Amino acid sequence: MPLRVSPRRWLNLQEYQSKKLMQDSGVTVQRFFVADTASEALEAAKRLKAKEIVLKAQILAGGRGKGVFDSGLKGGVHLTKEPAAVGELAGKMLGFNLTTKQTPKEGVKVKTVMVAEALDISRETYFAILMDRSCNGPVMVGSPQGGVDIEEVAATTPELIFKEVIDIFEGVRDDQALRMAANLGFKGPSQSSAASVQREFLWVISSLKVDATQVEVNPLGETPEGQVVCFDAKINFDDNAEFRQKAVFAMDDTTESDPLETEAAKYDLKYIGLDGNIACFVNGAGLAMATCDIIDLHGGKPANFLDLGGGVKENQVYVAFKLLTADPKVEAILVNIFGGIVNCAIIANGITKACRELELKVPLVVRLEGTNVQEAKRILSESGLPITSASDLDDAAKKAVAAIAKK
Ligand code: ADP
Ligand code: MG
Repeated sequence: MPLRVSPRRWLNLQEYQSKKLMQDSGVTVQRFFVADTASEALEAAKRLKAKEIVLKAQILAGGRGKGVFDSGLKGGVHLTKEPAAVGELAGKMLGFNLTTKQTPKEGVKVKTVMVAEALDISRETYFAILMDRSCNGPVMVGSPQGGVDIEEVAATTPELIFKEVIDIFEGVRDDQALRMAANLGFKGPSQSSAASVQREFLWVISSLKVDATQVEVNPLGETPEGQVVCFDAKINFDDNAEFRQKAVFAMDDTTESDPLETEAAKYDLKYIGLDGNIACFVNGAGLAMATCDIIDLHGGKPANFLDLGGGVKENQVYVAFKLLTADPKVEAILVNIFGGIVNCAIIANGITKACRELELKVPLVVRLEGTNVQEAKRILSESGLPITSASDLDDAAKKAVAAIAKK
């Protein structure tokens, strides 16, 4: 089953925000300004007084270098020696959509650009630290061939991707950092390069203090003078750490997220948009996947799914229905709830309230099982609402698919 949209589990920051955090931790990044208008960008370019300037569109997706704007401009990253050119270039970025390998087809609207000092890069390497479940902790990943084609390097020459598993208590050992530096190709008299790489490593490790799940620097570049510089930065944070990382989460920019997903999150609901026509209302991610699969098996396509989670309140059920039906693609709703912690009667009351108040116009198939299910079934059948009940998941999927076919 194709799941095109992935759930948001990690806060993602813009490059300039990540770089600010890096700066705060003592990592060298180039001097930069941020601008929201072409004239601000031009001003920033003049103020930088740099030999060369790099103008970078700020969107949460990667692959900007090779991206295309719907203004016709090619490339989300532009180098120029003329501050005067920055205004015009920024004018073709701001307010336009940038499409890259990692964005949806229609691209993402650019609202901010970063105007930074450019440096000559003699070599681009890839370096990241990420939390890896199979290693029970952080892993360093690096490649001597970083830059805009890293996906291809990983696919065609996986032997050029190096890993070092980090002991969470010990941190990065010197021998590991040196080996990674050597694997990245920092060598010879540029011992200092290796040392700077280690400094970058150290910062990245300390980023675990900000509950980062991933820090990716691509490219981690070497200048002709042997200086090691982070030219790009992407940091993700664990959403579960929001309560203790207030400053980081305050930077969250939800304008690039699916608005329904953001709205759902406000009510502790997880909404995932898909591209079919059957809305799925479930509890638990596993049940969500199973529901999507069985719909698929019976020839239907899920339009979305909404995961209620555990301690559910009647009002959440109402909001959930509102969100599910806000998608005009939805032609039927399938409720598939397995009441363990969840009390089915609360779900049933929420459903009947939502049906009445939202004047539901699409067929609704309900399969409830578990805690207090008899009471729930009574509430539904006595409601007089046109709700189709199903005996099990298979039956429910069949009925939802059939309801659409009948229309
Ligand atoms: P993305 O990964 O989204 O394509 P990057 O920030 O990695 O964006 O930029 C793409 C390429 O632009 C880099 O691989 C590098 O070659 C070049 N570049 C980026 N920043 C600078 C800079 N400050 N100075 C010189 N070149 C840069
Ligand atoms: Mg990059």
